[in-house]
Amino acid sequence: MSNANPSPAEAAEDAVNKRYARLLSLRTKVVDGKGAWYWAHFDPILIRNPDTNLAKSVKLKCSLCDAAFSASNPSRTAHAISPRC
Ligand SMILES: [Zn+2]
Repeated sequence: MSNANPSPAEAAEDAVNKRYARLLSLRTKVVDGKGAWYWAHFDPILIRNPDTNLAKSVKLKCSLCDAAFSASNPSRTAHAISPRC
């Protein structure tokens, strides 16, 4: 099956997958180095559309309290909105 002409949904999924991969490698780099300590508790997660099973967005999940939040501005400040952590 040729995929020379991806649908908008497929193109969007491709962008989301790339963003997810970038976050994963960023996290690895930061946690191994002297980066922001809070990254140690953040896991990038891929949100899928339950209807199409296509990846639709990337979020960060806190491994301490299970709060999920936007990956666009990962910082301890962004996460401080969670009262549980
Ligand atoms: Zn937390």
